[in-house]
Amino acid sequence: MTDFIPPAKPIIGDEEREAVDRVLRSGMIAQGPEVKAFEEEFSEHFKLGRACVAVNSGTSGLHLGLLACGIAAGDEVIVPSFTFAATANSVALTGATPVFADIAADDFTLDPASVEASITERTKAIMPVHLYGHPAKMAELQAIADKHGLMLFEDAAQAHGASLNGTPVGAFGEFGMFSLYPTKNMTSGEGGMVSAATEVVERNLRLYRNQGMLQQYHNEVVGLNNRMTDIHAAIGRVQLTKVGAWTTQRQENAAFLSANLEGVVTPPTLPGAVHVFHQYTVRVADDRDGFSAALKEQYQVGSGMFYPVPNHRLKPFQSPVELPETERAAKECLSLPVHPSLSRADLERVVAAVNALAKAGA
Ligand SMILES: *Cc1c(COP(=O)(O)O)cnc(C)c1O
Repeated sequence: MTDFIPPAKPIIGDEEREAVDRVLRSGMIAQGPEVKAFEEEFSEHFKLGRACVAVNSGTSGLHLGLLACGIAAGDEVIVPSFTFAATANSVALTGATPVFADIAADDFTLDPASVEASITERTKAIMPVHLYGHPAKMAELQAIADKHGLMLFEDAAQAHGASLNGTPVGAFGEFGMFSLYPTKNMTSGEGGMVSAATEVVERNLRLYRNQGMLQQYHNEVVGLNNRMTDIHAAIGRVQLTKVGAWTTQRQENAAFLSANLEGVVTPPTLPGAVHVFHQYTVRVADDRDGFSAALKEQYQVGSGMFYPVPNHRLKPFQSPVELPETERAAKECLSLPVHPSLSRADLERVVAAVNALAKAGA
């Protein structure tokens, strides 16, 4: 019986365990020196050139980023529908309305033309997602934002280390959020990191993270407790020393898959883009669900669907907008294993399984 190849696999080593133990022994486990060091090291590692603020989840990071930029009830923020629900949830939690635009046919990220067509007098910002680790079309989106006086934010939850024409994601928007959930390209257990374009946004993030205060009992706004603990920061600091090699391995795995897969549409990397392959997502035009089930049952190869139900079809967000590329991607997308723990034999098994099924279906 062959071993099952999982679609994702978090990697935690002895260094992470030792770092946690060090913090636990110190007796100081809530937000403290480890969080401060993690914020500085994260900004430096990804060459963001701006301050970072650590929080307890990626979703909290988006929520606080929006609050820090003044998004509130009555505002509209344009987001993709083809993403994880956290993108739209975070907008709705501020009281603002997420407005769904379509994705482009090529790279699964926001289509600038659809974004421009979605602008109303209430639109305050555009929040693209660097989906699967591929940077969104930031130059076009920035031009639209400038033309209409809108802010630009980044959901970089899946894109640690991705870049576009030499600029790292997380360095484009008023804020950029990276998730540190276990299946993302690096983890802190749970957690998020938010980059801030200005000192005002940074200060607001720190206020909203901690009950609205920077100085104990001098509360300035209504805030939350979205702090990261030193335990989680210690894990994240270790992972920062490993994520570069993991990303290189993901890119090599993706290159192998793209060179050898037949009968499915492989994911593009657009000119100027560095793709960090949080997911390696192919398109299966016919019976994607059956294809995924057969991969698992006949070949013990795991796969994922991100995301089979677009946000504008979810109960809390139901909207009559027509998003044909979003609908098509939701039907066709299938993410194959690309994580750094895969061996060459695993990759060969993935290729053999996909090619055999694609041929049988054709
Ligand atoms: C994972 C993810 C989030 C939320 O991050 P959490 O750390 O799980 O809260 C937001 N947006 C996208 C696109 C994600 O993939």
